[in-house]
Amino acid sequence: MKKLNRRQFLKGTVALGAATLTATATQAEAAPKNVLSPDRMGVLVDTTACVGCRQCEFACKKAHDLPTGNLESYSDRSVFNTMRRPSDTALTVVNEFRSGKDDALPTNVKVQCMHCDHPACVSACIVGAFTKEENGSVIWATEKCIGCRYCMVACPFQVPAFEYQKALQPLIAKCDFCFNRTKEGKLPACVGTCPVEALTYGPRNEIIRVAREKIRREPERYRTHIFGEHEVAGTSWMYLATNDFTELGFPKLHNKSAPGVSESIQHGIFASYFPPVFYYSLIGSVMWLSKKRHAADESEHHKEDGHE
Ligand code: SF4
Ligand code: SF4
Ligand code: SF4
Repeated sequence: MKKLNRRQFLKGTVALGAATLTATATQAEAAPKNVLSPDRMGVLVDTTACVGCRQCEFACKKAHDLPTGNLESYSDRSVFNTMRRPSDTALTVVNEFRSGKDDALPTNVKVQCMHCDHPACVSACIVGAFTKEENGSVIWATEKCIGCRYCMVACPFQVPAFEYQKALQPLIAKCDFCFNRTKEGKLPACVGTCPVEALTYGPRNEIIRVAREKIRREPERYRTHIFGEHEVAGTSWMYLATNDFTELGFPKLHNKSAPGVSESIQHGIFASYFPPVFYYSLIGSVMWLSKKRHAADESEHHKEDGHE
């Protein structure tokens, strides 16, 4: 193979950068905007009502065609011995916490994507695969995702999961707020299945009103803090609890939106060099080409195996 000298290499890189910058400028114009409708929906998770039955985990998997196992297995409470994060095979998980006034009465906390009002994942995605939809859902276009995992790094709640076990085209997975169900007027699967109504779905403004009313009526039961009302400038999923939220695995966050923070870090890193968009577009182009090549290889294998 012919070797490039340093000058030829740099020239080629700049040419690719210039081409990708042009492409990115066009893409940026076409990139989806962050839609923040005043009528967006939300969910209130009342951790004082949740009994840790994990039926929401089962319903979520079923709604997303993920392997569920049998329903009885979800009553196995030994899973609570380990703190779990959402994964590509479980878009929501429930954890149990025993810190608090009464050790015999654990607090169960359902975890999933928070559907931030100003999502760091949307802002970090270099190919515009993520969007904040009018109903509050933060969803993504699988065909655009190049598996770069910037969204994983950017998310202040460490939610997006990666299909590490997939050798070809591993992609990102997370709760999609049951976008396909809710646009047909159905409830999110987890909300619809919760047997004790620990989850309440409705317009975000109304959810906040309900949460405030609960706190007003039972001040001994709830802290005067609705987690998600202001954290990272607001999220669609919000929580009530008796305990301090930091004792329940929630990160301590500012009320400033997370993208501002992640962007300022990126800008800081690249301050003395080219703007991050240059690198983003360069890396994006390389990963996009690699994704295309994987797809071509896979189709070639299929042909060879006689699967045409
Ligand atoms: S919680 Fe993370 S993945 Fe979900 S919308 Fe916010 S930044 Fe994105
Ligand atoms: S809203 Fe849908 S995708 Fe999200 S946790 Fe609930 S069931 Fe799963
Ligand atoms: S279904 Fe409801 S009560 Fe059961 S674990 Fe999920 S949120 Fe808690």
